[in-house]
Amino acid sequence: MTLRELLAAGTRSFSFEFFPPRTETGERGVWDAIRRIEPVAPAFVSVTYGAGGSSRERTVELTKRIAAETTLRPVAHLTAVGHTVAELRRILGQYADAGVCDVLVLRGDPPGDPRGPWVPHPDGLTYAHELVTLVREAGAFSVGVAAFPERHPRSADWDSEIRHFVAKCRAGADYALTQMFFDVEDYLRLRDRVAAAGCDIPIIPEIMPATDVRQIRRFAELSDAAFPDELARRLDAARDRPAEGHRIGVEHAVAMSERLLAEGAPGLHYITLNRSTATLDIHRAVMATRAVAV
Ligand code: FAD
Repeated sequence: MTLRELLAAGTRSFSFEFFPPRTETGERGVWDAIRRIEPVAPAFVSVTYGAGGSSRERTVELTKRIAAETTLRPVAHLTAVGHTVAELRRILGQYADAGVCDVLVLRGDPPGDPRGPWVPHPDGLTYAHELVTLVREAGAFSVGVAAFPERHPRSADWDSEIRHFVAKCRAGADYALTQMFFDVEDYLRLRDRVAAAGCDIPIIPEIMPATDVRQIRRFAELSDAAFPDELARRLDAARDRPAEGHRIGVEHAVAMSERLLAEGAPGLHYITLNRSTATLDIHRAVMATRAVAV
């Protein structure tokens, strides 16, 4: 079953995100996390795409290795940043050769200053919907796109945000993965706005375990996600007690995950930061509650 078929059949999808590590220690860490996550049989695992150079090659290598050496279905993130159309086609060709059939299509942010002006490559693409079209034309890939529960920072208003999101879906996306967020209401409002615009694409919420307040604040700032004061206060109070921080972060993520599933979310995508402990704790707790509910 392709990811497209699996989601279209209404199957709840549980999945995990990794990034390409820079060092040998990082490489060992990500593979340790992958091997620990493999037995829970997620619907897919995704690999983020770097801002440029060797990190991009590492994305391609890690994705291909997951396809070749594990039982997991890898989803390769791909951005248009700094690429010509010919280069994008070459990367897609490498994925097709390696049996990687799933791509998360993104426009990407300007390298260096992600909030700086967006300058497309003269022989490249400007918006994600163009890359969706390119990937669709390139082969039989399942295509995911990005969704923003708190609106993309470059969008002037919600009307243009939704219009452009729906255009991206109509170009051929099968599903969307959201930016991280901490308030379930933001996800529900986005989903309702998309549905009101006549688009019924599955929008999978992304869950970031908030176990370390310093780290999470940095990520939340980078992604423009509002970080709830109450959670920040509790994590701050536990900043010198990692086990307590872990417990608070997992508890918050489990509560969010359960509410999202109860509201009909098509699945959950966990950001692992290349570690498995917190995300597996969240996943197991969510599955245990679901088993009791069934
Ligand atoms: P687009 O859909 O092209 O939108 C970008 C902006 O342009 C939006 O404001 C949109 O409203 C506007 N827009 C779209 N179409 C038009 C149009 N026709 N006319 C005018 N305006 C338009 N980045 C990475 O570098 N690597 C990753 O691996 C990565 N993974 C991500 C995973 C997820 C789940 C998410 C949510 C984001 C990820 N990102 C990643 C970040 C992403 O690349 C940035 O947020 C980027 O700024 C937006 O990408 P997009 O695909 O949503 O772009």
